[in-house]
Order: sequence, then C-alpha cells, then structure tokens
Amino acid sequence: MYLILLGPPGAGKGTQAASLSKELRAAHVASGDLFRQAQKQGTPLGLQAKAYMERGELVPDELTVRMVLERLEAPDCSGGVILDGFPRTLEQARALDQALGASGKNIDAVLYIKVSEDELVRRLGGRWLCRDCQTPYQTISSPPKVAGVCDSCGGELYQRPDDSRETVRTRLRVYEERTAPLIAYYIDLNKLIEIDGEQGIEEVRSEMLSALKSGVRAR
Ligand code: AMP
Repeated sequence: MYLILLGPPGAGKGTQAASLSKELRAAHVASGDLFRQAQKQGTPLGLQAKAYMERGELVPDELTVRMVLERLEAPDCSGGVILDGFPRTLEQARALDQALGASGKNIDAVLYIKVSEDELVRRLGGRWLCRDCQTPYQTISSPPKVAGVCDSCGGELYQRPDDSRETVRTRLRVYEERTAPLIAYYIDLNKLIEIDGEQGIEEVRSEMLSALKSGVRAR
C-alpha cells in the first residue's frame, strides 16, 4: 500500500504516519527526517538543504525527488510506504506518479489532515522531538512522562530551530502557495480523503483507519 499524508506543518503527519506504519506494516518515509539525517551526517545533500530548511523554504524539487525516490528503492519499502511530507509541490507529485507508474505501482490514497491556522501556530510553538528516534511531543496535548526525555527510547527532546515563530509563519505561507494545490490535484485523481485533524491523536488515527477501510473519497 502506498499512502500519502498531506497537510500543513503541525497537522500531525509525523505522529500519524508513525502509528499507521506500525498498523499497516509499511515503511514510514519522512522527507524532513531524511534531510535532517543528511545534515547530521554532513553529506553534500544535507549541506545543500540546510539553508532552505533554516529559512522555512522548500528544498528544490530536483534534490528532494532524487532523495525520496532513492529511499523508495530500499528493501523495507517493498511491502508498502507511508509518505510523510512528500510530495509538497505539483512537480514532486507528478514525479512520484511517474516513478511509481514505471514500476507498475500507484498511490492508493492521500489522507489530507485539515487543521486551522490558529491551531497550527499553537501546536508548533509547543512541539518537542526526540533527537534519537524523532518521536514528537506537544507540551499541552501529548507531553512526555518526564520533561525533556523521550518516553519511547529515553533520548533527549529538543525544539526544531525552524519551529520558531518567524519561520513557522514562512512555512505556513509556503504551504498555502506550493503544497495546498495538491489537494485539488488528488481530488481530480479521486484519491483524496479528508480527515479532521483538530481531534485528539487517537480519534484522528481511527478516522484514518476507518476511512481507508471504507474507501470513501472526497469529491
Ligand atoms: P518537515 O520535517 O516535513 O516539516 O520538513 C522540514 C523542512 O525540510 C521543510 O521546511 C523543508 O525545508 C524541507 N522539506 C521537507 N520535505 C520537503 C519536500 N517534500 N520538498 C521540499 N522541501 C522539503
């Protein structure tokens, strides 16, 4: 199964992708995590992506598409993939369709997590991530048991530099301009499923699973 989680920064894509990946036994492929990993390792890709990420802008399509398509070739992706944060532009969506089509595969569904802008700004301000396993926490709605420590692996929690107020504003604007047009693109392909992302984590997860089971699509 190939699923895309689409939605603005802070919508909960990472949290839901991690949980769906376990439930559906599909690989979780997060383009932002791949870029952060490349930066940590100091690879040329990481260095090229750094300045764009710090400004809250999109990394150029060419670099992003190459990185994600390469990741999709890995053996753990053969049983299915949950894409988180990719595609983020029409060019990326078309490149993905083309690459999957060439190997006789296609996207089964796109789960669009809808959340209001006020809620996104509130959530991103209180977001903490594990340095080691990337598990996300939220100060109010899903805090860790011990402040600053990951419940899953004991790793140190940190706040992403691009979650600062100023950069969040840029990321939301970039989302509206470059990524939101994908909603219409996937409606046209009859693949879009809209999910109410303002519910609790468990409710969002169960709405996703039942929507996938019933196969209802937005029109
Ligand atoms: P994320 O962790 O998904 O919020 O991504 C963090 C940053 O990585 C974004 O603000 C972009 O700079 C970059 N990035 C992640 N995914 C993509 C993508 N599909 N296209 C372009 N840039 C991306």
